[in-house]
Amino acid sequence: MRILLVEDDAMLAEAVTRALTQSAHAVDCARSGEEADRVLATEQYDLVLLDVGLPKIDGFEVLRRLRARRSTVPVLMLTANDAPEDVVKGLDLGADDYLTKPFRLSELEARVRALIRRANASVSSEIVNGRLRLDMAGRRLYCDDQPLELSQRELAVIELLLLREGKVVTKQQIIDHLYGWEDASSSNAVEVFIHRLRRKLEHSGVSITTVRGMGYLVEKANG
Ligand code: CA
Repeated sequence: MRILLVEDDAMLAEAVTRALTQSAHAVDCARSGEEADRVLATEQYDLVLLDVGLPKIDGFEVLRRLRARRSTVPVLMLTANDAPEDVVKGLDLGADDYLTKPFRLSELEARVRALIRRANASVSSEIVNGRLRLDMAGRRLYCDDQPLELSQRELAVIELLLLREGKVVTKQQIIDHLYGWEDASSSNAVEVFIHRLRRKLEHSGVSITTVRGMGYLVEKANG
């Protein structure tokens, strides 16, 4: 999934980015409220991690402007431990969840998974399609309960396709989900991932359809 992290503390930003990138999320990092506001006005994200205490425009103002633009992107606020009133203010302004600093990275990752699930209207951490079962929490894909050997990026691609079952996912959407600003990306790379996934899913009964000129699609498989 594509995540915007808004955090002015460089060390914390780096640690969070590393953890989320390891879980195959594409993470962009904004270091000020102004930068976040500018980026959120033009780019599409699946989730925003928003620090409250930021230089110039604070996290509340970024959130207020975001919701004023009628964006429904899930927002997880990162609040200071000594300011419980910030939690209430954030939720009132339209935040979906909050985490108090200092937090454990494992807890952040669990909250991220929960928000992404909720945004995709799925109550479970599993997606089942035919004989395939994706365990989003455990980051594994199973066919008939046998784990398939997938790289993190292959897993991220099939996750996106399974979450949007029956809908066309464009190459650009896949690129956006795989790569942050700092990574090189190309549509050729997407074709390579799709090719490998097709081979690995060959006997699963689930197939990735190419929709010419548009992108890719996974339909609900039988049984
Ligand atoms: Ca801060």
